[in-house]
Amino acid sequence: MTANPQRVIGLLGGMSWESSAEYYRLANELVRDRLGGLHSARVLLASVDFAEIERLQAAGEWEQAGEVLAQVARSLEAGGAELLLVCTNTMHRVADEIQAAIDIPLLHLGDATARAVTRAGLSTVGLLGTAFTMERPFYRDRLARHGLTVLVPPADDRAQVHRIIYDELCLGQLLEPSRQFYREVIARLVDAGAEGIILGCTEIELLIGAADSPVPVFPTTRLHVEAAVDLALAP
Ligand code: GLU
Repeated sequence: MTANPQRVIGLLGGMSWESSAEYYRLANELVRDRLGGLHSARVLLASVDFAEIERLQAAGEWEQAGEVLAQVARSLEAGGAELLLVCTNTMHRVADEIQAAIDIPLLHLGDATARAVTRAGLSTVGLLGTAFTMERPFYRDRLARHGLTVLVPPADDRAQVHRIIYDELCLGQLLEPSRQFYREVIARLVDAGAEGIILGCTEIELLIGAADSPVPVFPTTRLHVEAAVDLALAP
């Protein structure tokens, strides 16, 4: 039997599992499309209990959250993963700690997204995500490193965007009033100068897509998986 040249993608998921399921589906669809026939992605998925992670986020216990995720990342590497995706924008706050714990590459979601934005020829983007992602420097600075100018919604909009993620999207609830609200927030970001909108939370693209925005949207789950499959299939 010849060795399979496809690298094993490690998914550190469960944050929430609603979007991790998308990671798994998209990875398989993209590999099938690229290789044809019965080909599917070589994937290892480790899925945490999101309640534990959310509690650490809310308490500001980022170091401890980083340790929990680093431990899971190590287990994925030990199991044979050859590259790692952390399946949430928010927990990229501890991406450096996770990377420091493993020898395989962590494919940073912010880099994959920023590259897609620059490929599209845009430089000013609106960012939707959790309050942590919209307000803290870890994610915005990562995008800025690629030359992007990042706009975020005003405080009231940010609070509501955040609430919808945790109270609805992470629980699999896709509600029409929330879809309408996100559309309005996007319209306000476009009025403020956004040329594109980063769906910077891995559940948002379950609720809205290109049809909900007058400017291009950048769905981070899909972009992350595309970058991973490129790397997994690279010679
Ligand atoms: N999946 C979300 C994200 O991409 C939010 C859940 C979390 O806090 O990890 O940020």
